[in-house]
Amino acid sequence: MIDLHTHSTVSDGTETPTELVATARAAGVTVLALTDHDTTAGWDEAAAAYSPGMTLVRGAEFSTESPDGRGGTVTAHLLGYLFDPAAPEIVAEQERLRASRRDRLREMGERIAADHPIDADELLARLPPDSPAGRPHIGQALVAAGVVGSVTEAFEHLLRKDGPYYVEKYNTPIATAIALIDAAGGVAVFAHPFARKKGPIVEASVLADLAGRGLAGIEVDHPDHAADDRATLRDVAAAHGLLTTGSSDYHGTNKTTEIAAETTVREQYDALVARATGVEVLA
Ligand code: AMP
Ligand code: FE
Ligand code: FE
Ligand code: ZN
Repeated sequence: MIDLHTHSTVSDGTETPTELVATARAAGVTVLALTDHDTTAGWDEAAAAYSPGMTLVRGAEFSTESPDGRGGTVTAHLLGYLFDPAAPEIVAEQERLRASRRDRLREMGERIAADHPIDADELLARLPPDSPAGRPHIGQALVAAGVVGSVTEAFEHLLRKDGPYYVEKYNTPIATAIALIDAAGGVAVFAHPFARKKGPIVEASVLADLAGRGLAGIEVDHPDHAADDRATLRDVAAAHGLLTTGSSDYHGTNKTTEIAAETTVREQYDALVARATGVEVLA
């Protein structure tokens, strides 16, 4: 069982990298990718926690902005696998993304605090100074304050993109992010391109265009993808030579999805690893 997209407490998951590796092992996952948002800070702990019999793929999920194919732009997530984490351009860009995440968390927190009993400063003070703070952290504060019953409910009512408190953060232009990952020997995969409930999505033509700019694959099987959208994505991938992956996007108890709820087939995984020159998989 190959799960190529998971989050730890280093970003907005609820299990430490060590706990995440244990959860994966217990669930029968044979290949696990750690892909925290805009950071590689969990790589070392995950590397120390994995044990033979399981393969660890080190990666990250980059916050990007993509053309939407309709003349505008949308926010998009880009998975980068097996890139050199010391590449100076990646280090600098991820720092910029994390700093913007914290500024934005404070701003959203202050807006929400006008109506609900949460404290934005306290929220940020509890996170590590270099943390890729995200909306789920506000969701947890809202749960703790008794405003909502779960992080998922917080998203439905208060944190959603078209909701009253939403503030945008800085996102890397996706072509730039692909180029950075590529230059660092990594492999770029467009995360959940058709996750409609997260907000506006790209047209299929955008994926085709990015295929010509170094994008290696698209995440087809994802909990937020409808069956007909998966079929469309598979067709796009076949037409443009893109790899297809499947992953749970596990966030522990911040989401309701189980680890390995969606998986990647072995041939696609092997092809992905064969493209990488940044760092090795750990097996
Ligand atoms: P942010 O990175 O701050 O924009 O927040 C987006 C993150 O929130 C995603 O990466 C998911 O981890 C999480 N998320 C998005 N929608 C939901 C939802 N409906 N329920 C729980 N978590 C969600
Ligand atoms: Fe997340
Ligand atoms: Fe994502
Ligand atoms: Zn994710």
